[in-house]
Amino acid sequence: MGINISHDIDKSLNLSFNEYEMKMRDYAIENSVPIITDEGLRFLEDTIKKYNVKTILEIGTAIGYSAERISRANDVCVYTIERVDSMYNEALKNIKALGLSDKIHVIFKDALEAYPDVENVMFDALFIDAAKGQYKHFFELYEKNLKKGGIVICDNMSFHGFLDKDPSLMSRSLRGLVRKLRDFHDFLNNNPNYDTTYYEIGDGMSISIKK
Ligand code: SAH
Ligand code: MG
Repeated sequence: MGINISHDIDKSLNLSFNEYEMKMRDYAIENSVPIITDEGLRFLEDTIKKYNVKTILEIGTAIGYSAERISRANDVCVYTIERVDSMYNEALKNIKALGLSDKIHVIFKDALEAYPDVENVMFDALFIDAAKGQYKHFFELYEKNLKKGGIVICDNMSFHGFLDKDPSLMSRSLRGLVRKLRDFHDFLNNNPNYDTTYYEIGDGMSISIKK
């Protein structure tokens, strides 16, 4: 393997970042991994630069695609949590190959049980991109470690358009998820400690700024 030069791609693979990312996107399509859209990614990268984010907690690593893009957008230190072992292993492999192991820490746990792993770390941003029914729980658990003026970015806030559809046409479990995501919107809108803005980007994104 040789020595990885920090922020340089693994030379033994002889691939550029772009080529490696293309492979990650192909893997995601083949394995139905819901990685962020290109549009969402651009928004995420712009936001990270705009708020000069240097430390972030991501909930929902999947294969490490958004994590590596976040990290490289502004030399960000990323903590990211994943509960599925096949995803975790794929993410570790990718992060290592990209030479980013010193900047991206992957935690293999359910995010609702991973608080002790980060309790001493303060974050400039949280990026919530995991189980849609648990967004509020994630938010409440980790906002304690968000700096004043820090931001919470949420992905899939439109939930593939389901929020606008007739609930009586949905399965019971889908209806439950939609209700929880609606509750989360209400929670953000009525939260006196945050200013939240919604963006029609990708599958719907939001930014909540901690006052
Ligand atoms: N952020 C990634 C995509 C994440 S997909 C990207 O854009 O590249 C959502 C991931 O969250 C899945 O891999 C899923 O296994 C994980 N996940 C869902 N609920 C979780 C939880 N409670 N704790 C940890 N990981 C979770
Ligand atoms: Mg997403």
